[in-house]
Amino acid sequence: MTGLIDTHTHLQFGEFDKDREAVLERAWQAGLEAMVVLGVDAASSEAAIALAEANPRLYPTAGWHANVAVGLDQEGWRRLRELTQHPRVVAVGEIGLDFYRNLSPREDQVRVLEEQLALAAERRLPVAVHCRDAHDRMYPILKRWATKARPLFGEGRLLGVMHYFSGDLELARRYVDMGFLISVHTCVTYPTSGRLREVVTGLDMGCLVLETDSPYGAPQSQRGRRNEPSYVAEAATRVAELRGLTAEAVAQRTGENAIRLFGLRTAQAGAGSGGGRAW
Ligand SMILES: [Zn+2]
Repeated sequence: MTGLIDTHTHLQFGEFDKDREAVLERAWQAGLEAMVVLGVDAASSEAAIALAEANPRLYPTAGWHANVAVGLDQEGWRRLRELTQHPRVVAVGEIGLDFYRNLSPREDQVRVLEEQLALAAERRLPVAVHCRDAHDRMYPILKRWATKARPLFGEGRLLGVMHYFSGDLELARRYVDMGFLISVHTCVTYPTSGRLREVVTGLDMGCLVLETDSPYGAPQSQRGRRNEPSYVAEAATRVAELRGLTAEAVAQRTGENAIRLFGLRTAQAGAGSGGGRAW
């Protein structure tokens, strides 16, 4: 496979400290072209940027996760605003709502989400959204934001991605209509992933990107172990089976979608297949 992009990894996390170089090497061997490294607070966003500065095929984001929303103080917010101005940062994320784990009070989660959506609009950066058991609250927030953000971003620009998408096909279509892509996680390889399979087969291929969310959520073949970016190839293979396509075609198409969403300047984008951000 060539052109594969893991659109959501936490490669900067401690789980990779012992063998990060080997993990990267396996990813390039598996045909990855690039990966997007997601921050979850100021320190992890800084660490993602540091990794990306050392490796041009890594693209960092800056964001503050719902689970730690309660900890976003003035100093954190100042650092975060500054980090989103770094020239390599491709998105504001990982932001969102997690009403399953409820590690921060829900009202703090909503406030921190809305503040970061406003920041993303100000910076004209797409958002990477985490949403667990909270779509009823999430949908109207994003809908309102998308209506305001669309004229700022310009016609035809994608506004963000629903990472580790857990809703049904109908909800996926509503997010797509709003200007979002839907991210298919390596858990599409699980026998129990019926609802996600319907999303994969029901949407146009232009709406899908792939991710691992590594180190979490390993694919079926590695279950219980650490996940890593190279396993995004297993998601591509499964999507290919479900869609009746070659894995190569899925890797290329989802890779192009990721390039368009994040404005990545990869070799593939340079070859004219993807385009890039206008700024
Ligand atoms: Zn994540």
